[in-house]
Amino acid sequence: MICPSPSFYPMADIAKPYSPSKSYRGRFAPSPTGELHQGSLVAALASFLDAKAHQGTWLVRMEDLDPPREQAGAAAAILTALEAHHLYWDEPVLFQSQRLNAYADALARLTHLTYQCTCTRQRISDLGGIYDGHCRQRKDIDTAQVSATRVYIEPTSLVQLNTVDDIFLGNKANPLDNSGDFIIRRKDGLFAYQLAVAVDDNYQGITHVIRGADLFDSTNRQRYLLHSLGYDEPLYGHTPLVMLDRENKLSKQTGAKPLDNHCAFDNLCHALVFLNHAPPEPISTSSDIDTLLDWAIRHWQRARVITTR
Ligand code: GLU
Ligand code: ZN
Repeated sequence: MICPSPSFYPMADIAKPYSPSKSYRGRFAPSPTGELHQGSLVAALASFLDAKAHQGTWLVRMEDLDPPREQAGAAAAILTALEAHHLYWDEPVLFQSQRLNAYADALARLTHLTYQCTCTRQRISDLGGIYDGHCRQRKDIDTAQVSATRVYIEPTSLVQLNTVDDIFLGNKANPLDNSGDFIIRRKDGLFAYQLAVAVDDNYQGITHVIRGADLFDSTNRQRYLLHSLGYDEPLYGHTPLVMLDRENKLSKQTGAKPLDNHCAFDNLCHALVFLNHAPPEPISTSSDIDTLLDWAIRHWQRARVITTR
């Protein structure tokens, strides 16, 4: 197996220890819609390093809530890939498919804010993707009709949840009305990602959500649900996306290749270079994953991660 060798300007060897924070709990939360690729490795590694640099706990949560989009064997393949890259999680993996009762309970606790919506995808796309509250006041929806559950966004929250103080991006606009009242249970009866994430981040006591920037837009919706459920919110940090070209991020949809577990060391080196933490020699030539990760944990500096704001 020939692994492409990473090219980079290595960092000087000045370790910057973070103050220990035993209460730090981070997570990586993949959806088993396909195998991990280099873009998902960057997100996993950033969340792992940020947790470990703070002497925190790092968890893996399998977001297997959407069977129609899932790929057989992907959950197992994701966990195998994480292990091959020595990104070991500290507590048993939580599978969202086992948490349906918790999401149903949360839904029941939000009924003061929710309503049923029978609008078609077409209608919402005609609106430009921002829901206009059409079904909010409707009294004519009978319960036998197929409907989604939407959560009403209270006007005060619209004002309060207008930006996100992001660990990497700084204070950045994130208007809660970027989608209008949003769906927390889909027409097909499946719980929506936004609800499950909020419920589980609270359930697992997550203090730091470090994930790819493609999820930045969801942040205030998740904070809104956390507030509405009376839960504390974590801190959020969104890492830059590995791009395929100018417009498209590397993703399963754009044909990203699954990670080659035989090249774990080099994959991690590439991910570190992308995160602007190029390891110096002899770390970079050691071919030893634990040596590399140990160096990366000791040298992790949030401010080094380069973002486009
Ligand atoms: N499961 C989501 C995804 O793979 C990520 C959830 C999250 O990190 O908040 O896109
Ligand atoms: Zn509607």
